Amino acid sequence: MSNARIGLIGLGTMGAALALNIADNGFPIAVWNRTTATTQEFHAGAGDLAGMITPTETLEELVASIAKPRAIILMVPAGQAVDDQIAALRPLLDDDDLIIDAGNANFHDTNRRADAAGDLPFLGIGVSGGEEGARFGPSIMGGGKRAYWDRVSDVLNAIAAKHDDTACATWMGEGGAGHFVKAVHNGIEYADMQMIAEVYGIMRDGMDMAPAAIGETFAAWDDGPLKSYLVEISGKVAAATDPKTGKPMLEVIVDAAGQKGTGRWTVIEAQHLAAPIPAIEAAVVARNLSSQLETRQAGEALFGAAPHHLPHDTLTLGTLEQALMAGKILCYAQGFDMIVKASESFGWALPLPEIAKVWRAGCIIRSAMLDDMATALGEDTGRNLMFAPRFATLLQENHNALRQVVAQAALHGLPLPALSSGLAYFDTMRTGRGTANMIQGQRDFFGAHGFARVDGGSGHHGPWGS
Ligand code: NDP
Repeated sequence: MSNARIGLIGLGTMGAALALNIADNGFPIAVWNRTTATTQEFHAGAGDLAGMITPTETLEELVASIAKPRAIILMVPAGQAVDDQIAALRPLLDDDDLIIDAGNANFHDTNRRADAAGDLPFLGIGVSGGEEGARFGPSIMGGGKRAYWDRVSDVLNAIAAKHDDTACATWMGEGGAGHFVKAVHNGIEYADMQMIAEVYGIMRDGMDMAPAAIGETFAAWDDGPLKSYLVEISGKVAAATDPKTGKPMLEVIVDAAGQKGTGRWTVIEAQHLAAPIPAIEAAVVARNLSSQLETRQAGEALFGAAPHHLPHDTLTLGTLEQALMAGKILCYAQGFDMIVKASESFGWALPLPEIAKVWRAGCIIRSAMLDDMATALGEDTGRNLMFAPRFATLLQENHNALRQVVAQAALHGLPLPALSSGLAYFDTMRTGRGTANMIQGQRDFFGAHGFARVDGGSGHHGPWGS
């Protein structure tokens, strides 16, 4: 039988969910997994959808099960596994068959694979939303030749999340454009999660709030302007109870955050692009520091715990909500600004309003704010989001709350790396005359690098004392 519309390799968490989603949307699919027992288990557990799925035991059988021209999705770990799988698959395929890497590839690898593929069809697509998104509607960011995207866009649009009936699946540009946008998405995700965790820390340590009350606070915020998936799940995490001990779940979870590296890739790339994303960088650093558990415990023993507890009425929950609002706008503004810089640097025409739209449903950073962001980016694609009237007004209304929170936290030893770097970014961006004149003076002093004068001309040197 060669009637499957599409094939899929890798029936792990994401691949299995994606295959069921594809079948559920009426597309016959053939699947293959390195471990055959997994394929069999998957098919046996597919219920009503089993008839739409062709399980296969060899790559040859997989290829033979797919209608021509074929399209095959790879959902295996990023890196060598993708290269190995492409190498194993290509000789079995016709020249117009399409390979789609849907894992979390580094976009440089996707650029390289697209180049290596030459005229052989290849797409790299970023898929966000975790297992549930993959099963019921992820956000999909595509990269590669537009013609290849168009060949499978019916399937991708059908399986994607919908926002007001619009599919959250968009072609971003050639080569690694889709995986690049997914990386920035993950960078924003890191910063958003870190800011929420910092606000949680103020409620827990600064305001002595119990997890249940913190959960209620996040749930209430999820009904307001902060409405977003991450605020929603933070409320649920805070409200959950450990069945083993009866304690709040947050009390039994070790505070050492894991990471798979996509946030780090974003930060490294931002440095190459000279794109300022300090809140995202702070969030990646915070995860790195979180894993230094023993060192932090030694630090607490050496320096003593900070006071943490805020005097009564120092901060209100309303102030915290406003601070988080300002922080969130600033971290999205940084992420979108990085996309503008990458677009210029890599010769992509990354569609900023479409990116905001594709993130409105299905993905981890989905948030009520993204609707207004899409509108603001549509008005002026190259403008930093913090200068768009809607967001400039919100920052004017909320930056003092962010300032109060950062100041009080600093006075009481509560670390807020992402929120405070968001504030520093805001203050830097509204300082017409900063302090880099001192840096230029220093550079000229020790290296004769020259400087520009405010009254005109560049390449000047100072009469520095010895
Ligand atoms: P899993 O670990 O759950 O599954 C990995 C799958 O890849 C398994 O089917 C495994 O087969 C197969 N595999 C592993 N190594 C190889 C190899 N060398 N050659 C062939 N097949 C191999 O991973 P996920 O489903 O979580 O992730 C898959 C991709 O999706 C990754 O790139 C990940 O970063 C990305 N992703 C994951 C998300 C998530 O929330 N989990 C969200 C978005 C993207 P076997 O059964 O034989 O081990």
